[in-house]
Amino acid sequence: MTARIIDGNALSAEIRGKLAESAASLKNKGITPCLAVILVGQDPASAVYVRNKVAACEKAGMISLRDAYAPDVDPAVVFARIAELNADPSVHGILVQLPLPKHFDSEAVLESISPEKDVDGFHAENVGALMQGNPRFIPCTPYGVMKMLESANVPLKGAEVVIVGRSNIVGKPMAMLLLAKSCTVTICHSQSKDLAFHTRRADILVAAVGRAKMITGDMIKPGATVIDVGINRNSEGKLCGDVDFESAREVAGAITPVPGGVGPMTITMLLANTLESAERVAAGVAKGVAK
Ligand code: NDP
Repeated sequence: MTARIIDGNALSAEIRGKLAESAASLKNKGITPCLAVILVGQDPASAVYVRNKVAACEKAGMISLRDAYAPDVDPAVVFARIAELNADPSVHGILVQLPLPKHFDSEAVLESISPEKDVDGFHAENVGALMQGNPRFIPCTPYGVMKMLESANVPLKGAEVVIVGRSNIVGKPMAMLLLAKSCTVTICHSQSKDLAFHTRRADILVAAVGRAKMITGDMIKPGATVIDVGINRNSEGKLCGDVDFESAREVAGAITPVPGGVGPMTITMLLANTLESAERVAAGVAKGVAK
């Protein structure tokens, strides 16, 4: 079997086209969706992510503000800027690019963002809302994965899902979203015993670890849907996922590639969250509707 490819670039283009249309109609009502992005330090990967987010925003007809700070900036300066953006009614989304330098308390920074502008969905209030099944903002990467599963018509109800990775950004919110769709969810991590035992049971396998090609074809159930969230560089410096694509595609039923899979969807859902925030302002509501 050769797996069908779930193409994140194609799906992103389709969704971004619709988002641009919605942004244009909101603009006609006098509200232009605006995302503020804060970058601290000189991490090259973070700089690329921020550049891509800003460019995608502008292409969709949204405003993007970008603040970049030196790695040794006093955190008080960043907190003051976040407070300013929180109070600015023309700003609908605020994102602080992670990771932050070590002298920052990252949790405190994320908590300082207004939950109503927290388009990454990392504020404790928004994490709690997601847990309760009434999300205000869904974290962008798992949100993108849900859209990919939906577009590929992958059956969710009762499906055995195994997620490898338990981060607050990917693994945990991914589990909540799939649980809400009545999947049976197992979360694996670095201390899990016999990882392959779990992965081989999965109808849907989500890899979010950060270790190049660690999931091989022999760890996959024939016909399974494999979602590769990982972004790694191989020994030649080329981008690759957590899944060994070549062996996995011979076993899986459907698979996301890296690059061109989950990555573009993450940025697309950031735009979706920013638009949604602006639409809420236009409608005069603070809380989202259940998705
Ligand atoms: P983290 O480092 O925060 O989490 C990695 C998780 O993998 C941890 O839960 C860790 O377990 C687990 N893990 C590590 N080693 C093993 C192992 N040998 N077996 C099983 N589990 C293991 O990473 P993130 O969640 O932030 O990111 C994961 C990957 O996804 C990275 O490659 C990142 O670059 C990528 N990413 C991609 C995005 C996209 O848009 N495509 C967006 C965000 C991330 P433990 O908790 O026990 O330490």
